[in-house]
Amino acid sequence: MFGKIDSIIKEKNLKPSRCVYHTMRLLENGGKVRVLVLSDRIARAEYICPKCGFCGFVEAEWKRPFSVKCEKCGATIKVPKLKGKKDF
Ligand SMILES: [Zn+2]
Repeated sequence: MFGKIDSIIKEKNLKPSRCVYHTMRLLENGGKVRVLVLSDRIARAEYICPKCGFCGFVEAEWKRPFSVKCEKCGATIKVPKLKGKKDF
């Protein structure tokens, strides 16, 4: 199921320069989180929860620091702070 952001990129034919922010982070226990923010300032985040392994996708208003909540177990999945604008 991980691949939702890939399909958004394909669907919209996005160029990296049109992304406000785009990152993929590996987390503990095989978890990961990928965040894509476009000029609409909406963050699309897909994740594999490091606590329960649930794979989910959420859209939320973009703000920093950014975190998503696992829909299954309620764990907060933080996107580690970055230095640059894009580091994907
Ligand atoms: Zn979870």
